Amino acid sequence: MKTITVIQNGRVIDPVSNTNEIAEIWIRDGLIIAPESKNSETAEIVDATGCWVVPGLIDMHVHLREPGEEYKETIESGTRAAAAGGFTGVACMPNTHPVNDNGSVTLFICETAKTCSARVYPVGAISQQSKGVSLAEFGEMKQAGAVAFTDDGLPVLDSQLMRRAMEYSASHNSLIMSHSEEISLSRGGCMNEGEVSTRLGLGGIPNAAESIMVYRDIALAELTDARVHLSHVSTADSIDLIRAAKTRGVSVTAETSPHYFTLTDEAVLGYDTHAKMSPPLRSKKDQDAIREALADGTIDAIATDHAPHSELEKDVEFSLAANGIIGLETSLPLTLALVRAGIIDEMRLVQLMSSRPAEILGVSGGSLEIGAPADIAVIDPQKKFVFNAEKSHSKSANSPFSGWELQGKAVLTLLAGRITHSEV
Ligand SMILES: [Zn+2]
Repeated sequence: MKTITVIQNGRVIDPVSNTNEIAEIWIRDGLIIAPESKNSETAEIVDATGCWVVPGLIDMHVHLREPGEEYKETIESGTRAAAAGGFTGVACMPNTHPVNDNGSVTLFICETAKTCSARVYPVGAISQQSKGVSLAEFGEMKQAGAVAFTDDGLPVLDSQLMRRAMEYSASHNSLIMSHSEEISLSRGGCMNEGEVSTRLGLGGIPNAAESIMVYRDIALAELTDARVHLSHVSTADSIDLIRAAKTRGVSVTAETSPHYFTLTDEAVLGYDTHAKMSPPLRSKKDQDAIREALADGTIDAIATDHAPHSELEKDVEFSLAANGIIGLETSLPLTLALVRAGIIDEMRLVQLMSSRPAEILGVSGGSLEIGAPADIAVIDPQKKFVFNAEKSHSKSANSPFSGWELQGKAVLTLLAGRITHSEV
């Protein structure tokens, strides 16, 4: 029996060990091991010629919809989409039904995920039922496996409650994730406020709806010494605030999503509800600022905000449509487009999509060092394909990228040495 797998001839890219060279990766019993002497009787050989061999991608921000909205996505289908996109770990948001605001929901997610195609890291709610009134049971959720806390989908409007959440998380070394939205400014809006919203006659959401809350949560992070992570950053104003906070030494990190560096609010022309998300697609100036922030380190991670919805929620008038798009199978090729454009290099891509998310969440993965679990993505950066959302592994098909020709794909994904996706 072949007990060893050797991935050979691929370009191994690992920011943690600063490796970027043709090398072999050896796997036994689900772990990366030091090279031994091999023969074809004991070793399964994977030829990765022309491919990159990288630590499995980690998505800090997905909505798996289970429990409660299994018609949109399940933990099983969502992690299959993840594996197909090169991901071996995903952090799932608590806005399920019921809300993940207690240890039993957290435990249910962890137990269900055990047989699935990616590691699933539940993020617990900050407030009970995410209603923003009283704090949820952080300790209980953390014990059950929660890696961070957020009321994502909604902001925590009460600044005193957010302060207390940060104080608690600071004393327990937990992470707070901020959905930064000032609701009184975004209410009534359904797209970016600007020339396009005026032209379309749609209610606009100004950049300030995001940056006011980004500013508040940076100020609270400074006050409490908490570790705060800003989710789905979309504006140039937010970037300026984050850059200044990092310069001051505030313990703040940030993510953005591929749609914010790929599309602008012009994608809404034609009233396509697949271009509706929260925060909304912004202007070219914001897009440029985000690209710059990905390159210079102001933004730490690329996360999809994978938000499956059925046609019921999307095939309606623009202002009534649900926010969000699926993203697990398009994130890698859309980020590879930044590499081809010379905005980031391949090492930075792996940092943004694997090493930094692992570090921020405090979970395994993000590197290919000996002894680590064999969570690995083999990427063919040249492979072209037309993305068909209807044929994706997700149960939903809400993507503005359906029909796009994309370049670059995970051709093999391994989770603790087990194949979770293969097209080799
Ligand atoms: Zn959010």
